[in-house]
Amino acid sequence: MSTSTRGAVAPADRAAPLDAVALRRDFPILTQEVRGKPLIYLDNAATSQKPRVVIDALREYYETTNANIHRGIHYLSEKGTAAYEDARVRVARFINAAQPHEVIFTRGTTDGINMLARAWGDENIAADDEILLTEVEHHSNLVPWQALAKRRGARLRFIPTDDAGVIDLDTYGGMLGPQTKLVAVHHVSNVLGVIAPVAEMARLAHEHGAVIAVDGAQSAPHMPVDVQALDVDFLTFSGHKMAGPTGIGILYGKEALLDAMEPAHFGGSMIRMVELESSTWADLPDKFEGGTPNIAGAIGLGVAVDYLEHVGMDAINAHARQLGSYAVNVLSDMPGVSVHGPEADGERGGVVSFTVHDLHPHDVGTVLDGEGIAIRAGHHCAQPLMRKLGVHATARASVYLYNTTDEIDRLVEGVDKAQRFFGTI
Ligand code: PMP
Repeated sequence: MSTSTRGAVAPADRAAPLDAVALRRDFPILTQEVRGKPLIYLDNAATSQKPRVVIDALREYYETTNANIHRGIHYLSEKGTAAYEDARVRVARFINAAQPHEVIFTRGTTDGINMLARAWGDENIAADDEILLTEVEHHSNLVPWQALAKRRGARLRFIPTDDAGVIDLDTYGGMLGPQTKLVAVHHVSNVLGVIAPVAEMARLAHEHGAVIAVDGAQSAPHMPVDVQALDVDFLTFSGHKMAGPTGIGILYGKEALLDAMEPAHFGGSMIRMVELESSTWADLPDKFEGGTPNIAGAIGLGVAVDYLEHVGMDAINAHARQLGSYAVNVLSDMPGVSVHGPEADGERGGVVSFTVHDLHPHDVGTVLDGEGIAIRAGHHCAQPLMRKLGVHATARASVYLYNTTDEIDRLVEGVDKAQRFFGTI
């Protein structure tokens, strides 16, 4: 934690790599007023807003295509199946998966990690095996592994980080050994915004024969993620945080690993042959998609990734970093405000957690809400990290492609208003 001034404040919108003001016109929800003020939506790490193309795609699907897929022989079913599979191809391209069938549709990151812990974990983790995690993980990338470790008698070990969440690669390398079977790590922290050195971690994990599973919930929406370049074995992420619908997400896995895994859900659509006493499984990806999937959600996610690619993932990444750094600078310069996570010029994205001395984050959030500014306040599903930081909760502002430096300035004014209202400055 730091209360220091972090250098000069970056000039507003300097070298803005994308036109956020123009892009926000694609998002109908952003035109509204909240509590009599223009909505400033800075809760994107929780969920992002949706562009009109995604909303239209959902409506159009239900108006023109709706049918169950993969089993009908009629026109609508074939059309729906083609659209659903086309979405898989688009997502595969988005993360540069080697094959579309390495992309499994799930309900979201939490669902994907739970599937992994069951389907891969129960087969591959034995008593006394070690699973390496960090204290920075979201509960979704911690609790499923706790449950697995309990089921299998395995051990969780935590790679140390500093208070900014930066992983010590030397210490990590020293923790890897023959007993390490899995490294389960965030790509970008939903609290600290810190970016983990996933490619290097994957290389070291593989040197020791371990598998690496990356929680990409906060990376896939905001930066180019190339699963082959990173050489990660599994990657999970959520559609709703990347301009797509809720209830849809992705579990990416390398073909050989997915092929060797048992299914996670059993029922219709995932079988090859069913006898009364036993069954065999369909090929990838159907083996992991038992039951009627979220067809509209998958199609909507396909449209969302097209939209993000059209804007450009490099530009989105640069924008998130620029706004994140700007927010770190201006918030740190405020009296009584501490920013958590890396410095403005560190390995960080557009998630900025802060605490205001003598104010509960909920009070900060409530005052900001009165100004039409949506942030998050709480433990952010990262209670162990809160304990490490020595706080119960933080306030968190998180940006997306439609946010502007002007909105960050409004945030600062709102925090100042909260401090004055409660008389802490
Ligand atoms: N991991 C991280 C880093 C997250 O930020 C989140 C969402 N806050 C999740 C996992 C869980 O995602 P979901 O709720 O969409 O399953």
